[in-house]
Amino acid sequence: MFRKKTVRDIAIEGRTVLVRVDFNVPIHEGRVADDTRIRATLPTLTYLLEHGAALVLASHLGRPKGRPNPAFSLRPVVEPLAARLGRPVQFATDPAGPDAQAKAAALQPGQVLLLENTRFDPGETRNDPAFAQRLASLAQVFVNDAFGTAHRLHASTVGVARYLPAVAGFLLAKEVETITRLLEDPARPLVTILGGAKISDKIKVLHNLLPRAERLLIGGGMANTFLAAQGYRLGASLVEAQARETAIALLETYGEKIVLPVDFIVADRFAADAQTRRVPVSEGVPEGWMALDIGPETVERFAPFIREAGSIIWNGPLGVFELAPFARGTVAVARLVAESPGFSLVGGGDSVAALHQAGLADRIDHISTGGGATLKLLAGEPLPAVEVLEDKP
Ligand code: AMP
Repeated sequence: MFRKKTVRDIAIEGRTVLVRVDFNVPIHEGRVADDTRIRATLPTLTYLLEHGAALVLASHLGRPKGRPNPAFSLRPVVEPLAARLGRPVQFATDPAGPDAQAKAAALQPGQVLLLENTRFDPGETRNDPAFAQRLASLAQVFVNDAFGTAHRLHASTVGVARYLPAVAGFLLAKEVETITRLLEDPARPLVTILGGAKISDKIKVLHNLLPRAERLLIGGGMANTFLAAQGYRLGASLVEAQARETAIALLETYGEKIVLPVDFIVADRFAADAQTRRVPVSEGVPEGWMALDIGPETVERFAPFIREAGSIIWNGPLGVFELAPFARGTVAVARLVAESPGFSLVGGGDSVAALHQAGLADRIDHISTGGGATLKLLAGEPLPAVEVLEDKP
């Protein structure tokens, strides 16, 4: 259940609404290379415009470190956004300075103003109250629809909510609601799949998911550390020596739920043109070689759990999927998740990229737009930008 007010719970007609969106899009040669994040905000923006609001849109883009830098300007977003909204979009050359103030003050209902990158001001990432107040002074209502930055304690995500009535947009509400429901009341069995490089980045996620899930399938570099802790030979594979105790403790408590790889694709170098072969985990990784993907028998072992899942949560690639020879395990698991009748949630940039690569994205029930924010929710931690929104009565 999402316990915060949304745009449906607040009067907006005739008011100017400051919307924190996530327009942190990839820019190549001054153009937006992928407008997924722009499209994701359209339901909220359209709703507000149709209900008589004027919009001031705030976002960050990249890491300009508190100074104006044309390489991180949001100006390239103006045109694709205007095309999607079907109306003109004005642009303020500063995030909350004189140009933003003048243009926001002149806005009429139905008009849209995009502010320059909030991180051009050093007050943004410091959550400086003076900057938050200047942002707030541009509007009468604050709507946060930026799930991707909801784990950040910044002026435009948290600080500004102190000075304006603050509610959630549809994207933020849907993300939090979907992930929370999967944690609190999932259709069973709940099967979780974790990959990626390291255990240490996801210890809290492991501790939060293991008690709730029927199964945890582990691949990627993460699995190496578990297997090394069980005494298997890992050669030159990525293994986190300092996470050994954690791995042993998790295996002791949750051993029956944890499903580890039974074979690997190993390589003599970390490269796309490396020599490769399949080895059973029981045989171990040859000296000097490294495990860079799960093998086909592991996919077979994972398959029935994924097919029979009531719900699936997947985060992190199961191998070095950026290099084609080591993408097969991740793509095979992506296909199993897409084909499973269970409700599927996929989060994290890499697993989502793998789904797009395999052309399977439209067969997933919920693809999360957040990386860090998704992990934080999966770890059972509150998101600061959600906490500050008004509660539903
Ligand atoms: P994360 O950000 O923790 O989800 O980690 C993603 C990264 O883990 C990707 O860049 C993968 O290339 C990497 N990764 C996955 N499997 C392995 C592996 N077996 N060895 C080394 N890196 C891996």
